[in-house]
Parts: sequence; structure tokens; C-alpha cells
Amino acid sequence: MKARRGIAKERPESEDSVTTRNEALWRKIFFNWLITDPCLLIDEHKEDAKHLKNYQVQNQEGLKYVFFCGGRFKTIKQKPINVLTGVLLVAPAVLFWIFDAKWLCDHISPSLVVIFTYIWFLSFSYFVNASTSDPGTLPRNVHLPYKIDDESTKAPEEYFSTVSLPYKDEHTPVTVRYCSTCHIWRPPRTSHCSVCNSCIAALDHHCIFLNNCVGQRNHSVFLWFLLSTVTCCILLAILSFVQIFHYLMVSNSEIKTFRESITKHPVAFLLAIYSLLGLVYPWMLLLCHLFLTSFNVTTREYLSNYQTRGTVYSLFTSFNPNSTIKSLYLNWLGKPNGVSLIPMRDSYTRGDMRFEKVNPLQSFTV
Ligand SMILES: [Zn+2]
Ligand SMILES: [Zn+2]
Repeated sequence: MKARRGIAKERPESEDSVTTRNEALWRKIFFNWLITDPCLLIDEHKEDAKHLKNYQVQNQEGLKYVFFCGGRFKTIKQKPINVLTGVLLVAPAVLFWIFDAKWLCDHISPSLVVIFTYIWFLSFSYFVNASTSDPGTLPRNVHLPYKIDDESTKAPEEYFSTVSLPYKDEHTPVTVRYCSTCHIWRPPRTSHCSVCNSCIAALDHHCIFLNNCVGQRNHSVFLWFLLSTVTCCILLAILSFVQIFHYLMVSNSEIKTFRESITKHPVAFLLAIYSLLGLVYPWMLLLCHLFLTSFNVTTREYLSNYQTRGTVYSLFTSFNPNSTIKSLYLNWLGKPNGVSLIPMRDSYTRGDMRFEKVNPLQSFTV
């Protein structure tokens, strides 16, 4: 240790400053751009708030977001199950391309490999989009009842009420409530996700496999992810079975038995089993969401209605267009994703209340 200190003292100052500058540059690239946990940067921002982007200034209480590549992608600080989902998607495709694609090109048709690859890329891009995009997070601190430094003032009485808006009939009420965490009046169909600790517009559910909420801005992407994944699994199973049972279709095959076939094509056999097992959960989820979207009802609304109003009215809300085709069209194709209400890559303006830490209102804490 002593020798090291000695060497450090002998270094010319300019060399030290270059090293420090390089370290600062790498630190800036790594923590301020590649992987940014805003909670770790708060102290740095107190000193220098110039040239900051919104994603670097997330001072709000209890937020768990982590941003990647300059705020382009985000996830939350939870068990990274979305990484596991990504691996489960990528691994079979890589095995297919390495071991089975050439056989299919030689014995059946290269177009089958192209079709599989196309559908797989669709599935994977939908997964990345649904997993890392903004699901419709609403900005915080928009409806503060008083100056934030005045902690003695109680929140107005109406902040405790559930306000009913005009609706079709008594069985399909539209209500709005104040969110005491986000300090906003939630628009209709908005709910607070306890995992993300944010209010999400048209929240469907928090998906642990995506590690993200499914809401207004990524609901249709999520639906297309399910459909493309199910299609991909079915196609992979068919292609694998074609390879395994090809010996039955040709008269002069060297392979005579099923055992010989799976010994010759072990990866195809593995992929056939994998794709059939992997099909079960996305298929069930797809059927469930086909059913819900045919009524234009979110998972959360359905479960909440089921508890409070029973089975008869659980599928009917004021947002139901009374047409299955219309509902399906709205959810799968026609619903605009809308713009992000918190553009993370925009420049930060000092004092922007959306990113400030505000204590819970006094009346809500009592
Ligand atoms: Zn909220
Ligand atoms: Zn969530």
C-alpha cells in the first residue's frame, strides 16, 4: 500500500487529471446513459442541474424505475423476470437456427425458416416494446391542494370522496378518485399500480413476466405479443414434428423408426416438447384477453366488477361499445397508444413539480 501511495505522489498532476477525467467520462456514460438509476443521481443533481434529462431526475417518493440507453427503455427494480422471459424466447430460436434450419432448407423449403424467423422477430420486438416502454404513466403532483411547504394545511374534504361522472345506467358507474401517492385526480379507468408505485392510464394489469404494467400505451402491443408468441410456438412445434416424422413421408429414408429419428434429430425433439409446453400459458392468456377485449373491459375492471357487482355486470362498463367486433377492433388495432405524458428524454426544467418529492397530504396520513 505504501509503495502504491509513493507512486501516486510521484505522478505528474496532468496524468492524474486525465485519469480522473476518463473515470468521470466512463461513469457518465455508464450511469447517466447506459443504466441510470435516478435515485443514485439525486445528490449529484443538487450540485448541477444543467443539461439534465427528465429520466435522470426522478426524485419522487418510492419510484422504482431504472432507465437504459439515455431514457429510451425502462424497467423497474424488481426480480428481473423479464430477462428470464427474454431468454426463454431467444434460446429456442437460436437452437432452431443452429441445428434445424439447414435441415428444413435442404429437405422441405427455406421459406418455412423465413416465416418462422419473421414471426419470431415480431414476437421478440413486441416483447421488448411491451416490457420496456411507458405503459401510460401519469405525471405526479399535478393536483396539489396547497403549497407543498405548508404542511399544516389539511387536504380538502372532496379529496376523500369518490366522484361519479355521468354514465349509461346504474350498473355501469364511472368514478374518479384522488391518488394520495401521486397527488393527482385519476382520470377514468386509471389505477395506481402498487408494484410500480405509479398511476397508469387504462391499467390492465401489472405483468410480472414483462416486469412492467400493461396499460393505455402498451396494451395492444401486449396483445400482439401474445398472439405472435402463440403462433411462433405452434409453428415451431409443427416444424419440429415435420423433421421428426419426415422418415414416414419418404420411402427411401435411412431412418426407419421413431427412436432412430429422435436420436438423429435430438434438438428437433427437444424443441417440439419445449414449444408444446411453452404454448400452454400464452395460449390461456391469449384466450382470456380475447374474451376481455371482446367486451372492451380491462382485467382490473373485470376483477373489480366481479367482486363488487357480481358476474352479471362484471363484463359491462360504460366503455363497452355493445359490439364485439368494435371492441376487438378498438383493443387490437384501433386504439391509439397516445403520447407519453412524461417524455423522459426531454430536457429537465429546474423546479418541475412532476419530478419533485412531495410528502403525503396530512389528512391522508392520519
Ligand atoms: Zn397514483
Ligand atoms: Zn406496474
